[in-house]
Amino acid sequence: MGGRLDLGADGAAVIRCFDPRDLSDTGTVAVTPVADVPAVIARARAAQLLWQDQGLKRRKWAIADLHQAFLAAGEELVGLLAEEVGRPSGEAWTGEIVANHDLFGWWLSQIDDLLTAFPLDLNPVNYPRKRGRVQLDPVGVVGLVTPWNLPVAIPLRCLVPALLAGNAVVWKASEHTPRVSARLFEIIRATLPEGVVELVQGGGDQGAAVVGGAVDAVFFTGSVRTGRRIAAACAERFVPCSLELGGKDAAVVLHDAELERTVEGIVWAANGLAGQNCAAVERCYVDARIHDAFVDKVVARVEKLRPILDVGPLCNPAQLDIVKDHVADAVARGATVRTGGEAPGPGLFHQPTVLTGVTDDMKVMAEETFGPVLPIAPFDDLQDALRRVDGTPYGLTTSIWTRDLELGETLGTQLHCGVVTVNNHAFTGALPMGTWGGPKETGHGVTNSRFALYHLTRPRTVLVDALAMPHEMWWFPYNDALDRVGKGLIELQRKGGSKLPGARAALSGFINRWKD
Ligand code: NAD
Repeated sequence: MGGRLDLGADGAAVIRCFDPRDLSDTGTVAVTPVADVPAVIARARAAQLLWQDQGLKRRKWAIADLHQAFLAAGEELVGLLAEEVGRPSGEAWTGEIVANHDLFGWWLSQIDDLLTAFPLDLNPVNYPRKRGRVQLDPVGVVGLVTPWNLPVAIPLRCLVPALLAGNAVVWKASEHTPRVSARLFEIIRATLPEGVVELVQGGGDQGAAVVGGAVDAVFFTGSVRTGRRIAAACAERFVPCSLELGGKDAAVVLHDAELERTVEGIVWAANGLAGQNCAAVERCYVDARIHDAFVDKVVARVEKLRPILDVGPLCNPAQLDIVKDHVADAVARGATVRTGGEAPGPGLFHQPTVLTGVTDDMKVMAEETFGPVLPIAPFDDLQDALRRVDGTPYGLTTSIWTRDLELGETLGTQLHCGVVTVNNHAFTGALPMGTWGGPKETGHGVTNSRFALYHLTRPRTVLVDALAMPHEMWWFPYNDALDRVGKGLIELQRKGGSKLPGARAALSGFINRWKD
């Protein structure tokens, strides 16, 4: 596995790291003592005030520098991703480096517009000589807790907009990817002012200390189980949290689908990241008319996938055990392994596996597998298939595969999920301008897009009053005259009165005389 909590020779907690491809030792990383976490958060808080005061222009310069430093370290990060999570290099380059290049570029080009305050459109008759705006302020210190499956991309999807918006971030990285996280942090620390980003290394205890500490918002990506705990901890402190949790994505293949593309796309989406993708295709419903031909082609394509070069290992033994358990459960209940199955050690590999004869009550169809396993089920009735798609507690993404693009769009948007793709799957998580997240147990967060700023900023209304008169209409005293003014105002405004020349002056004069 990528990392394991243990004690070092001096008795201090460490994470023991090794390469999941062959279990070779790759060193240790020090764990942040839980007792140190409050001081880490305090450092971030002190740095945040200065960072916010720098203003957006200077923050953009700093993040542009970070962008360049990140790109310059691309090769090194790809190497670490191979050692720590067994990621094939092509996958690391596209998913973790190229996609993040786009992420930096998009936020840097959009942030001025996205953070521009918008004016209050005040009715000048009711609210004379006042102006106002809604501005987006940073929330302060964001607690960021991340998983191991995309250990560069997932943190950056929060860090880049959070920092541009003027926040500091205390980042608790996954205990399974401490080396790649440490390297990313070094790059950040070399570019940004001290304390603006702080790294906490360790497991659940460290995560809980960050979430339960004096942070102003929490941004979490990980399992439903942990997400539930984090939501409860945040509720205790009334701290807002964004939760990007699990998935059990389905692909629905209609009878008119472009078969070659559909097979290639679904085989990639089921086996990319060795299936350890929250948006991996974990269920495939295929029109019965093309089911057999589709399965044959999928099996033939899967059998051409190359270990290490195309499909890496699972990240940790516990994850490998879940995958084996789901396949065993399916087989015990009557499913057929069309290709794949367990792989010989010493690495944490599982062969890309295709199952048929599956039913929706099997673990492999109902629970998150997070491994290179593709169960395929035929359907006769399309509406019934869509009901089955919606039948799990998750709602991250769904794809519809058809030549009828309009139908695909119509069917997709009937589903209860956060992302719908027609003739593609999963890659939209890498689009910084699109939303990422979903309903039900997938959580209630939004990563990427302008909507991510809802979690990373706090709207503030600012109103400035230049009215020199001693009274406002709604101030004391309350009397019959005020009732008449209220009624008169409504009469006037129903006739378009706020636009009548002189209406404002006449009303102000009246109010002043009456209040005097
Ligand atoms: P996990 O929930 O086990 O761990 C995630 C992080 O939470 C780790 O850093 C861990 O140390 C920390 N943590 C554990 N207990 C904690 C606690 N009590 N308080 C605070 N932090 C705690 O998840 P994982 O196994 O690392 O990641 C896999 C899961 O992540 C899958 O379920 C996958 O679907 C999900 N995921 C979701 C998305 C998405 O965008 N929806 C993306 C990637 C991964």
